[in-house]
Amino acid sequence: MSKTLRLILGDQLNTQHSWFSKKDDDTCYVLMEVMQEQEYLLHHHVQKILAFFAAMRNFAHQLKQAGHKVIYIKLDDKDNQQHFDKNINLLIKEHQITRFEYQLPDEYRLDEQLKAFCNKLKIDWGVADTEHFLTARNDIRDFFGNRKSYLMESFYRHMRNKLGILMDGDGPLNGKWNFDHDNRKRYDGKVPLKQPLIFSHDVTELKTMIDKMGVRYFGRVEAGNLGWPLSRKEALELLTYFCEELLPNFGTYEDAMLQDHISLFHSRMSFAQNVKMVSPAEIVDAVLKAWNKNKTTISLAQVEGYIRQIIGWREFMRGVYWAKMPEYAEKNFFNHKNQLPKWYWDGETKMNCLNKCINQSLDNAWAHHIQRLMVIGNFALLIGADPDEVDQWYLGIYIDAIQWVEITNTRGMSQFADGGIIGSKPYVASAAYINKMSDYCKHCHYDYKKKHGEKACPYNSLYWNFFDRNRKQLENNPRISMMYRMLEKFNKQELEATLKQAEQYLADLDKL
Ligand code: FAD
Ligand code: SF4
Repeated sequence: MSKTLRLILGDQLNTQHSWFSKKDDDTCYVLMEVMQEQEYLLHHHVQKILAFFAAMRNFAHQLKQAGHKVIYIKLDDKDNQQHFDKNINLLIKEHQITRFEYQLPDEYRLDEQLKAFCNKLKIDWGVADTEHFLTARNDIRDFFGNRKSYLMESFYRHMRNKLGILMDGDGPLNGKWNFDHDNRKRYDGKVPLKQPLIFSHDVTELKTMIDKMGVRYFGRVEAGNLGWPLSRKEALELLTYFCEELLPNFGTYEDAMLQDHISLFHSRMSFAQNVKMVSPAEIVDAVLKAWNKNKTTISLAQVEGYIRQIIGWREFMRGVYWAKMPEYAEKNFFNHKNQLPKWYWDGETKMNCLNKCINQSLDNAWAHHIQRLMVIGNFALLIGADPDEVDQWYLGIYIDAIQWVEITNTRGMSQFADGGIIGSKPYVASAAYINKMSDYCKHCHYDYKKKHGEKACPYNSLYWNFFDRNRKQLENNPRISMMYRMLEKFNKQELEATLKQAEQYLADLDKL
């Protein structure tokens, strides 16, 4: 008699998958907590580990309740071999399994591992799609062909057309593809802020277990309480909350930052999405329904802004990942080798923007896009941090960090280490941008207006140092040549003092 074992990875918690459409006594599902996944990287944020395990346990429970056969291997189970291959081999033997199946992993590392494992298997095996994304792994590669850089906007327009979203015939609804120009304002207090929807999950027992097992981690978890959605039900609640309360102002304040409000109008849906508790199609559907129901309070600019993140950026990053791995993980266009300052790990810096964004990340395992890109990533790029270390930091700290979406955003969008596959120019900015988009500078030890001298904001001198030291690689980039014309117009003494200031800061980053 045939007996099938189906592996479900921690980011494959999709109850809507066709695997579960019928119950079958000869099919058994397995989920496992393994040290292998804790040790491939320096350390994960404690909330990331707890959220993955808790969500996996909930998922297994739901499957069992629905009548499926499920094996759940806990991290501290006596027979746990702490490695996918070893555990699967053991189960195949113990349960006389005749066929093994898994869903396509989203990480290159696991994809290679499972392919190699299956190629050695003596039993029949098969692989299924995750049925989550709107595109196939190779769609982006096929769409851009041999082009050197990939333009997200053209892919996004193709997706709008293909899916028939916000279209009027062949063109965009209301004649515009992109409302970025109307969006992205500093928070001006014109609409009240809403509190984020935080769930309450007691994870004390899980935390005790990971401590007992000696799992390495960093970051904080307040009183053993986890605020992330850990089931599909909660993920859908978060989505409804977003559509009703936050979507009306999402785009307008998408890039704004406030020191006393962590998320403004962002959805905080990334964890629920990345572990596949909800699908991008469901999210787009909910957003469009909310808009159709309430066009007086939700403008097209908000809806377009959000949908672009889901059908544009998210699918695009995944496609770039599969088109460019494994070489992508080695890219270092500027040959940056510096270490991150030690306060990236504890948040103890006098630079208020970085102090707030890093501490927020340590407290919540989450920061919004502009905090990740224009404060934390911007600084790492300006100081010439090694992209390997920057990747380790981002992959560890964020609740939503899975390599396919972390590395493309970090190495690509934020560090320009891919030399321009994802972005046409590096995302760097001086204090003027941070001051324009936030209230951080008002409360800072440093002076955002000064380039050099006492308490001069480090971003300013490092910004000019960045262009000066990377002249060879950047001067001919048409989107940047203006910066070199500005550098040439600098007063000589002013330039010298600015570059000297940068050297002084670079020599002792830990003290900033
Ligand atoms: P919202 O602002 O509400 O956006 C809605 C959704 O759009 C997100 O949930 C996400 O699924 C999608 N989205 C938005 N921007 C992007 C993007 N650039 N790439 C892919 N999807 C996007 N996102 C991750 O999911 N995992 C990561 O590890 C990750 N690392 C990042 C590292 C850096 C350096 C930067 C600059 C960005 C990173 N992002 C990452 C993208 C983005 O910052 C997060 O998706 C977002 O902050 C999650 O919060 P949210 O759900 O409230 O997003
Ligand atoms: Fe950040 Fe500089 Fe502003 Fe301080 S002055 S908050 S370091 S940008």
